[in-house]
Amino acid sequence: MSAGKNTAAPTGGNDSHKPSNFIKNIIDEDLKNGKNDSRVHTRFPPEPNGYLHIGHAKSICLNFGLAQEYNGLCNLRFDDTNPVKEEDEYVNAIIEDVKWLGFDWQERLYFASDYFEKMYEFAIELIKKGKAYVEDLNAEEIRQYRGTLTKPGKASPSRNRNIAENLDLFERMRKGEFPDGAKVLRAKIDMSSGNMNMRDPVMYRILHASHHRTGDKWAIYPMYDWAHGLEDSIESITHSICTLEFEDHRPLYDWFLDNLEDVHHPRQIEFARLNLTYTVMSKRKLLRLVAEKHVSGWDDPRMPTIAGMRRRGIPPAAIRDFCNRIGVAKADSMVDRAMFDSCIREELNKKAQRVMVVLDPVKVVITNYPEDKVEDLPAENNPEDENAGSRMLPFSREIYIEREDFREEAPKKFFRMVPGREVRLKHAYYVKCTDFVKDETGEITEIHYEYDPATRGGWSDDGRKVKGTLHWVSAMHALDIEVRLYDHLFSKENPDDSRDETDFIEYLNPKSLVALKNCKAEPGLRECKQGERFQFLRKGYFCSDNLDFTAGKPVFNRIVALRDTWKKMQQK
Ligand code: ATP
Ligand code: MG
Repeated sequence: MSAGKNTAAPTGGNDSHKPSNFIKNIIDEDLKNGKNDSRVHTRFPPEPNGYLHIGHAKSICLNFGLAQEYNGLCNLRFDDTNPVKEEDEYVNAIIEDVKWLGFDWQERLYFASDYFEKMYEFAIELIKKGKAYVEDLNAEEIRQYRGTLTKPGKASPSRNRNIAENLDLFERMRKGEFPDGAKVLRAKIDMSSGNMNMRDPVMYRILHASHHRTGDKWAIYPMYDWAHGLEDSIESITHSICTLEFEDHRPLYDWFLDNLEDVHHPRQIEFARLNLTYTVMSKRKLLRLVAEKHVSGWDDPRMPTIAGMRRRGIPPAAIRDFCNRIGVAKADSMVDRAMFDSCIREELNKKAQRVMVVLDPVKVVITNYPEDKVEDLPAENNPEDENAGSRMLPFSREIYIEREDFREEAPKKFFRMVPGREVRLKHAYYVKCTDFVKDETGEITEIHYEYDPATRGGWSDDGRKVKGTLHWVSAMHALDIEVRLYDHLFSKENPDDSRDETDFIEYLNPKSLVALKNCKAEPGLRECKQGERFQFLRKGYFCSDNLDFTAGKPVFNRIVALRDTWKKMQQK
């Protein structure tokens, strides 16, 4: 995997040019030549051995997206050929995730395990043609016989077994007569091929394991290379799109289909995996994060899983937009997380209602405001959306502001609150700091303001300008909530680097989750539902948690902060 960042990726603007997609050129060419009766039929083929992540989202958007664009079809197919690692929990999670991303496979939900019988018959066909044989060597011996990149392999003694004996042994393998590892079925191709995958690859192994769908029916299971092309063929797939590591397997994909009579032969096309900075993407590593409890589960909001992103509050449209913008290439690259965040902000900016929440509150007393008075002040819900309307905010003598918005003494560029300076309270009034109180440790415990009643709504008629605008919440109306802030799960840009021998766990960011338990929210958030998204003014985009939720007392996850470094970078 290259560590070079994909700086050539398009910017976050709406006018971004269409990223290149060489796969479309191939499809266009095939359509022009009348291949496949001018059909386009793709599939997304996850193995149900873990949850889907943002890399899978790229593959989903690509496969379903091409089908949409060419008026074709896309299947959802579980490539469930390894009973040891696969579970129904993963099947269900994957179905939920693909649906949530906004894609529809209609009635075409398939399982490779439903084809086991057909695959078995195809294997018999190859044996009968003298193109497959039962091997007695064990895994280690097979490896030794296979040779190396510089040394040709040599034929195993089993290679010349006669067809009748092969048929008999293979049937007995199926019946479970032999223990695990005692025999395998191999394709008879070329032990001196320059491509190691062609040196009589294994098609079936013996495994006395219970499968999540077929139970104990089978004692043999097909290997990926044998199974995958058959799955595609059986489903009449036209373009079988996979990631680059399968490029060297393509000759084998083709060999299997070429050597069977009358089978449909799809075209395999490889593209580069998506890698994202500050995270890991391999299922094995994600599984370890879950198993060792470095995160709360597959749906921990810091995980790059679809389930995690959903819980965090990232809208599916932002994920689709991101996947479309990064394009499809033939060379591996690393995409900057900041670019993903930029897509998320752009989507949320259009839709998220603005509210005021103080994350780190300090009390303010407006000394010239009547003690028993409460006013309702109108506040617009979203300046980006004229149909979003407005709401009323209660204002009273005591409010909370953000601790960091006040400085006793401040540098020139600090436009927030310092003694003697006037600032605006959003949607409310101009206020001026007259005094403050400290405790014995030197911490500010209370700030005193005076307000100007002539500036209701936060505007002055006499043309007086203020530089700073602060968010606030009325103290007696405030809703106490917990807010969780997230940072990158890893502190290293590429914790997944295969050249690095340090265990990737060492790079976990100890500050990736900060839970603020004492936040003050405007009272309307009491009505908030699970999974509702908001912009907390000046603080970022937040979503109420789906799991940790009590009516009237939501817990919020920060989806993303407001500052957009990616956009800035692109505009320079
Ligand atoms: P593993 O990590 O267990 O090898 P995988 O990540 O390849 O598995 P699969 O379930 O086999 O997971 O993947 C389903 C599809 O998603 C495959 O077509 C695969 O090529 C594609 N895919 C997986 N990871 C990425 C990625 N990072 N970027 C783009 N496509 C991906
Ligand atoms: Mg895979």
